[in-house]
Amino acid sequence: MDKKRMRDRCPNCGDLLINPSGPQSSPYLFVGEFPGMEEIRQGNTFVGITGSILNRELARIGLQLSACRSINLWQHAKNDCDLEFHINKLTQEIRKHKYVLLMGSDVTQVLLGKNVMDISGMKVKIALFPKIVFYASPNPAILLHAPIGEFRLALQRFKKEIK
Ligand SMILES: [Zn+2]
Repeated sequence: MDKKRMRDRCPNCGDLLINPSGPQSSPYLFVGEFPGMEEIRQGNTFVGITGSILNRELARIGLQLSACRSINLWQHAKNDCDLEFHINKLTQEIRKHKYVLLMGSDVTQVLLGKNVMDISGMKVKIALFPKIVFYASPNPAILLHAPIGEFRLALQRFKKEIK
């Protein structure tokens, strides 16, 4: 069967959707910003370079990306589509999990109304989701160009929270 033909399209703009990956029953949700080229090609989250960085870094805190749930703020390439549609899909997903790591500036701004570097590695509660623990970190994609320290620090604190 042609896998591509089975993929859902965005009801607003018609782009192919990249659905969340990993088990829905996982307590952990990792939220990126938008899919890269490889993610768009395969229709899965975090299968490209950013995914391999994330996978490697999660292994350092004893987690396997494939055993965790992951999603992006944008469920297809960033375009002029209605952002509210994407936020709604994201919040539906967030409700199913206990610990959420928001990775990047856009998603932190949209959900927490804060600058990611002001709260990176800190535990954040949101009135809308009183039972869910949020952490924020830089987007792991920045690690391609920048030192890894800030992302690792945020992950270390996330690890302390979940064990
Ligand atoms: Zn769209």
